Amino acid sequence: MPGRVLVVDDVLPNIKLLEAKLMSEYFDVRTATNGPDALEMIQSDTPDIVLLDVMMPGIDGFEVCKRIRSNPATAHLPVVMVTALSDPSDRVRGLEAGADDFLTKPVDDTALFARVRSLLRLKVMIDEWLLREQTSAHFGVLETGANGLAMDYRAGRILLIEDNPIDATNTQKILSRDENMVFTCPGAAQAREIAAGEDIELIVCSLNLEDEDALRLVSQFRSTERTRQIPILMTGEIDQIDKLAKALDLGANDYIMKPLDKNELAARSRTQIRRRRFQDRLRESYERSLSMALIDSLTGLYNRRYLETYLKGLMDNAVERRKPLALLMLDIDHFKAVNDTHGHIVGDKVLKAVAEALINSLRSVDMIARIGGEEFVVVMPDTSEEFAEAVAERLRRRVSETNVSCEGVEEPVSVNISIGLTMRTGEDKTVEDLMKRADKALYGAKNAGRNRVVSDIPEVGPEVS
Ligand code: GH3
Ligand code: MG
Ligand code: MG
Repeated sequence: MPGRVLVVDDVLPNIKLLEAKLMSEYFDVRTATNGPDALEMIQSDTPDIVLLDVMMPGIDGFEVCKRIRSNPATAHLPVVMVTALSDPSDRVRGLEAGADDFLTKPVDDTALFARVRSLLRLKVMIDEWLLREQTSAHFGVLETGANGLAMDYRAGRILLIEDNPIDATNTQKILSRDENMVFTCPGAAQAREIAAGEDIELIVCSLNLEDEDALRLVSQFRSTERTRQIPILMTGEIDQIDKLAKALDLGANDYIMKPLDKNELAARSRTQIRRRRFQDRLRESYERSLSMALIDSLTGLYNRRYLETYLKGLMDNAVERRKPLALLMLDIDHFKAVNDTHGHIVGDKVLKAVAEALINSLRSVDMIARIGGEEFVVVMPDTSEEFAEAVAERLRRRVSETNVSCEGVEEPVSVNISIGLTMRTGEDKTVEDLMKRADKALYGAKNAGRNRVVSDIPEVGPEVS
């Protein structure tokens, strides 16, 4: 999974060293020696990750990081600060400026590569969601401009897995800030149970558990549907860097060394909780946009766009397997009069009631869509002519029996429906052929007096392939 890395440092030997290390792992490396150049390169030639020195003349790394984060186009770019500063307060300052990690020079290769790989994996996932969000926005069903850093991080639900009682008490105390709710458990078995049952937003897990290999636990969390997306923050000892790096490769999101610095732990937890909420938001809005794009909001039936795609697949399938396919086109009779007499609100209520009557009279393999104001299409795969005619007649009758009572309207309102029916023949190759014929049949039903079913099924010879 090599990616494009931008290395920013004002000291040339530092750049050369990192560049050599990264190139030996097949990364595509770009370099900049000051903040303004780095920002310009990020704009023109977006990298997948930035390794950023802190102390530089002009704008320093903290400021560069803040600017990356405040530009919506680059807000999601992973940034790792690499610095000689080792004071916990600098570390926290870096994390609060929006850095994903803060590594102290000399940089340990294992830690660096594990971190870069883990952030690149995350970036691929977030990019995918952002792309979907942009696509939905293009269809006009979604507002964009989501930003991970703008998410609230308070009142998180955190699972702490720590079997050392003193560490457990200390860590719980730190994590309980920000109005968080912390579930502390000493063993893996109980942790699995809580992770599966509670709506956990962050798992903080000790690398040194008595009753279970913590790395195995991480990989189980990652392979279980319910916990796959929960961020994991590992805690470990300073001499366990290899194992912590392994945890990142297995899917943990971050780690922190003991003894825990309380501000650093708080900053890292916030980052993870925010990111988790951001991803949830992206996913929810994507799902909502999908349903908005394919479902008619008034009746809850599929819309024309969905019908067209679905019907095309169904048609190809029917042609290929020479299976019968029935299509009905339905239109409410004199619906304009309902609106004119009772108003649009009553009209909408009647539309909903008709949709409900229709869907309740169909099998689950049949498909119904609302394709226009008071027009519907029903598609019945693998259905004979006799059966289709019986269904059409049943639909017509059910609609005519539906009464809609409305406030302010004395008599319940009822409507009738006209139906055009057709069957796929060996000569139909496209959906349009079928739709056109059904529409013609519907026109026939209207002309013949409405509230009836008219079939138009061409006589053709036996289907040949
Ligand atoms: P016909 O029997 O020939 O089909 O007559 P009709 O009045 O049903 O047909 P026409 O196409 O003239 O009018 C359809 C009406 O459906 C026009 C519009 O007022 C109404 N309509 C379309 N969409 C909606 C909707 O979403 N809500 C409501 N309340 N009315 C709608
Ligand atoms: Mg009508
Ligand atoms: Mg109409």
